[in-house]
Amino acid sequence: MQSEPSIFTRIINKEIPADVVYEDDKCIVIKDINPRARVHLLIIPKKPIATLFDLKPEDKDLMGHMMLLLPQIAQAQNLDGFKTQIHTGESGGQEVFHIHIHLLGN
Ligand code: AMP
Repeated sequence: MQSEPSIFTRIINKEIPADVVYEDDKCIVIKDINPRARVHLLIIPKKPIATLFDLKPEDKDLMGHMMLLLPQIAQAQNLDGFKTQIHTGESGGQEVFHIHIHLLGN
């Protein structure tokens, strides 16, 4: 059974607004709606993978792409350092079941 599109899929499809700071064919980067740092961005793949547990070997390039984007996005935000978080599963504090990397910097 197909689950409901995540809120991030709806943002990617431009069905609901978001503050988009970067977009390419593989992912989108938006400002977190509830920032926990001066700069709090979410790097979100366009492919709707629910959690890290759901990654497949063919997702290796996509995940590598997102990792390489992190320092580029951080530099574009004039950060000389940043933290990353990936919440995984309910017990890992995940609220939106569509993989995303938090980028936090002050
Ligand atoms: P988590 O799944 O625990 O990594 O948390 C999901 C994150 O998405 C939280 O930091 C929320 O503030 C953020 N978030 C939820 N809805 C939106 C939205 N519509 N636009 C931007 N950020 C959102």
